[in-house]
Amino acid sequence: MPESYDIVIAGGGMVGVSLALQLGAVLPAETSILLVEGFPLPAPTAGQAPAYHPAFDARSTALSYSSRLVYEQMGVWDDLAQWVCAIESIHVSSRGRFGSTLLHAGDHRWPALGYVVENAWLGNALIHALRQRDRVALRCPAKVVSATPLNGGVSLQLEGDTAAVTAGLLLVADGAASGLRDCLGVAVNEKPYQQHALVANIAFAQPHRGCAYERFTDEGPLAILPLLPTRDGEQRGALVWTLPPERAQHLRDCPPPEFLHSLQQRFGYRLGRLLRVGERHEYPLALVQSSEQVRQGIVVMGNAAHALHPVAGQGFNLALRDVAELGRVLREGLEAGRQPGELALLQRYQRRQHADQQRTIAFSDRVPSLFMHADPLLGMGRDLALAGLDVLPGLKREFVRHAAGVAVSGGQASG
Ligand SMILES: Cc1cc2nc3c(=O)[nH]c(=O)nc-3n(C[C@H](O)[C@H](O)[C@H](O)COP(=O)(O)OP(=O)(O)OC[C@H]3O[C@@H](n4cnc5c(N)ncnc54)[C@H](O)[C@@H]3O)c2cc1C
Repeated sequence: MPESYDIVIAGGGMVGVSLALQLGAVLPAETSILLVEGFPLPAPTAGQAPAYHPAFDARSTALSYSSRLVYEQMGVWDDLAQWVCAIESIHVSSRGRFGSTLLHAGDHRWPALGYVVENAWLGNALIHALRQRDRVALRCPAKVVSATPLNGGVSLQLEGDTAAVTAGLLLVADGAASGLRDCLGVAVNEKPYQQHALVANIAFAQPHRGCAYERFTDEGPLAILPLLPTRDGEQRGALVWTLPPERAQHLRDCPPPEFLHSLQQRFGYRLGRLLRVGERHEYPLALVQSSEQVRQGIVVMGNAAHALHPVAGQGFNLALRDVAELGRVLREGLEAGRQPGELALLQRYQRRQHADQQRTIAFSDRVPSLFMHADPLLGMGRDLALAGLDVLPGLKREFVRHAAGVAVSGGQASG
């Protein structure tokens, strides 16, 4: 007899685990849910650095206000809050040009412009909640090796298992290089940016005071996001530095003093002297979009549906808004006696998220190219855009609302 679930989530990265928590929280208790993840989910640790998992690696994530709301509804924000550093202001500048702007949470009567969390701690809090609630069945480590649509669902083959697992609804959350998307014959559109992101934690001499720095240089954008200080008070930030591939590789491998010197030259002294760099990691960047997101019994989610340029810190925030909306649509459908895999229901989810996805993808795609262009007229335009943010409060407010993910999701920022 095949094992059978109403919903199977394939992939337990940041999106898959968030999906499991959200669906577990909003769907009726009799809806059976299974999460399958290829790597062991690390056992949560109290106080010590969490064990390594590739999906919860050395990166940090800037969570928008809309993501905080989703985690509050899921009931995990209170635990997560101890690991996040609030972004109180954002400083945007362009190297070698005059335009720069400062956005303050207080000016918009927001509690914060966003929250930075190290992915390892985000994973720790989410996995801890998942295990504690015991609402979702877990198969990890286990890999889904194939998926075949059936009448009214999907049949899944797990590596090493002889019996199949059947799902009324399969949520494909296995990342940008999704094997399941390919297995189901869902085409993918990929636009490589010919740039790599170099990621590392940096220690510096002066306090960051909750300021996130976004600096556009001729090589690509560079962000330093504020992190909580270490126990001994060391001031730290999460660097995401977008560079041509060969330069990223060189800076990943060069001795730390050379790395810090290059970064200091590009970034300047806003945080004082740069003192130390942690482990460096490199990620090739591409805009990856699934040509279809829903079929009867199937929804493609997270990076498998849309992987974005990280400059605007939007990819995961968008994915979480998708997660929240899918939860709402499925709950409405199940309460009305519908099956979770019904195409009309899944199409309703897609219609509701379409505008948000299109706007966020276009924003993330446009920003890096606008700020990298060598054309002096475009350069002047971007300086005016930065200066304009300072002199036109309405424009600034729109920018902030977009960054916070509320303009597009319709959430409330007050409180
Ligand atoms: C440098 C960088 C910085 C970023 N910063 C931000 C930011 O500040 N804010 C933001 O919103 N976004 C940010 N992002 C985007 C964010 O990291 C992604 O949106 C997020 O990681 C997507 O998670 P995912 O779960 O969809 O995919 P993944 O993290 O790739 O997870 C996929 C999971 O599926 C598992 N898997 C794969 N195949 C199978 C299988 N066959 N069976 C079972 N399991 C399988 C894998 O083991 C993995 O755990 C950034 C991205 C980069 C590259």
